[in-house]
Amino acid sequence: MPSAVIVCPSGLAGEIRTAKIGDLEQFAETARRNFARALTDLLNSCWLRTDDKAIYPEPLHWGKVLAGDRLYSWIQMWILRSGRKLEFQFQCDDQGCRQVNPKLQQWESMLDALVVQMLPEASKTTFMAGNRFETTVDGKRVAFRLLTGELEAEVEGRSRGRKRTLSEGMAERLIEVEGVGTKFEALTKWAHDLDDGEVERFIAVRDAADCGVELGIEVQCEFCNRVVPIDIPFAENWTRLVRKKGSTSPGR
Ligand SMILES: [Zn+2]
Repeated sequence: MPSAVIVCPSGLAGEIRTAKIGDLEQFAETARRNFARALTDLLNSCWLRTDDKAIYPEPLHWGKVLAGDRLYSWIQMWILRSGRKLEFQFQCDDQGCRQVNPKLQQWESMLDALVVQMLPEASKTTFMAGNRFETTVDGKRVAFRLLTGELEAEVEGRSRGRKRTLSEGMAERLIEVEGVGTKFEALTKWAHDLDDGEVERFIAVRDAADCGVELGIEVQCEFCNRVVPIDIPFAENWTRLVRKKGSTSPGR
């Protein structure tokens, strides 16, 4: 079974293998209820060995791991299985064009050419001390946290498939706001009244403290030549793969 030694954006290092059919079946089953939890289970079963635990407690549990490390490792699993290429269609965002470009074929080295943001040294210390980061928003002291697998699963459980508003999305990452407290409803209400510029500044501070893999790329529409910014549909492609494997329809 193919495996590889990888080093995640936080410095977490170890060996990961490709998924077995049983892993994919389990993933499909759990993802129906909670996608983040399905990914946690998948990474837990495919992680063979930890060489450097970096910022995490041992034994390693992928629910406690940062979203950036999880995405990075997940992409490495894909590369192990299917190579560096990811084929997908995209629709041109020009109002007069709107053509669907066929599957991209020319991105042979795309998945390992994505920009990886390493976790800053200062963030490692703060994360290990309890994942409580501090900044100021709209004149108030604000404590926030970086996204882990457990937090993602919790957020997903709360929103139950409903698309979250911008203020809910912001509140989910907050621990406490001076004078507002720690309750999700109160934090959402506070975020709702912030001006757009304050939110953008907060997101910039938050993202600079985090690690991750940049899924945004620019592709050119072959019908009108417009350069279109898109996010690589990595999770969607994975889900398609799992569905294909999980299919037991007769005649296949
Ligand atoms: Zn176009």
